[in-house]
Amino acid sequence: YLTNQELRESNARSYPRRIPIAIKEANGIMVKDVEGKNYFDCLAGAGTLALGHNHPVVIEAIQKVLHHQLPLHTLDITTPVKDEFIGELFKILPKEFSSKAKILFCGPTGADAVEAAIKLVKTATGKRSIFSFHGAYHGMTHGALSLTGNVSPKQSVANLMPDVHFLPYPYSYRCPFQQGGDLGAQTSSHYVQHVLDDPESGIVSPAGMIMEIVQGEGGVIPAPNSWIDQIRSITQDRGIPLIIDEVQTGLGRTGKLFAFEHSGIVPDVVILSKAIGGSLPLSVVVYDESLDKWSPGAHAGTFRGNQMAMAAGTATIRFIQENKLEIQADKLGNKMMASLKEVQKNSSSIGEVRGRGLMIGVEIVNTQQSPNKMQSYPPYPELARQIQHECLKRGLILELGGRYGSVVRFLPPLIVTEKQVDIICEIFDTAIQ
Ligand code: PMP
Repeated sequence: YLTNQELRESNARSYPRRIPIAIKEANGIMVKDVEGKNYFDCLAGAGTLALGHNHPVVIEAIQKVLHHQLPLHTLDITTPVKDEFIGELFKILPKEFSSKAKILFCGPTGADAVEAAIKLVKTATGKRSIFSFHGAYHGMTHGALSLTGNVSPKQSVANLMPDVHFLPYPYSYRCPFQQGGDLGAQTSSHYVQHVLDDPESGIVSPAGMIMEIVQGEGGVIPAPNSWIDQIRSITQDRGIPLIIDEVQTGLGRTGKLFAFEHSGIVPDVVILSKAIGGSLPLSVVVYDESLDKWSPGAHAGTFRGNQMAMAAGTATIRFIQENKLEIQADKLGNKMMASLKEVQKNSSSIGEVRGRGLMIGVEIVNTQQSPNKMQSYPPYPELARQIQHECLKRGLILELGGRYGSVVRFLPPLIVTEKQVDIICEIFDTAIQ
């Protein structure tokens, strides 16, 4: 092998390559680079690897497809492997939603499913505009990027999808209403209501509203259940389809099989990708049958549901369910969050530790500067990058996120053990000190 520095990841400038290693082997939560150094992988494909790398049930499922001459690709013609995947997915979706839901297979990526969901609600309602939220992340293709809250990835791309309106997300550490917690969240939902009902806001009833229950790339920001409930009532009362993007949160990551189950709402549309393909590319949109107003062929594509990904996905769903990994994610997520809050006590650079289940963020702030009225300090992306680098040196892979790139994100596979959680937090503690 060449060295970490010599191996190419991509020579396109769009990749920042903030994690400058080349991985040659992977098993469970651990990966090994080409120079033989081991790392805890707390990026895990941005939440894709629910069962970690090369889990035996996933490998077995893929091998079964290959060894039994099962078709690798059939376009839209169904197969027993596809049927089995649909059956397993529908078994774990809440009945109130799944009993009258349709499934659409999309291209391999989360963004493909976001594009499809937007077309779906526009087609079903005959309306044009979409509501999204500040800090939201829905992907990098033109339509999905239009819905993404951060300005920086959009700046250089003109003519994105028009008629997208951004609403305030309940980000309590940096609440736009100068009051955090539930009160800030309540103000945010009142604002949404006001915008919809005020004819002078210029917003005609939208085709749909898209949101994450925990913003991931946006800085690991969990929305309070009360806010989610209010948004559901507001949209329901006005007949606005609510699209929940579970690309990152789905399949147990947040401590429930689906993050929308924390509040108990029933969405109109759910977007799934990442973990549902058991580490291979797969994405789907599951939606209420009342929205199924497409004409045949209105949404098509060559690679919609790879057979190996569906087999790996079925195995992953079964393993998560049989081993109640969502409960484990809740328990170990709480433990990790408690340990990181201990680290916070000895470090003035941590503004907030937050998250849900095994989706945790640590916001790095600059306490050399003065706090604002809400006592939150300015973001400190340079220090966050340094902490990420110090962790990497000590064998821990973490990603950054947040509107300013100042949130260190922990997304370990759901199979992480208590002991591994301790070691990960210890490494982080040493690195930050
Ligand atoms: N939605 C959410 C919530 C995501 O986190 C992501 C990816 N991080 C996407 C959509 C886009 O998925 P992909 O990168 O597969 O296009």
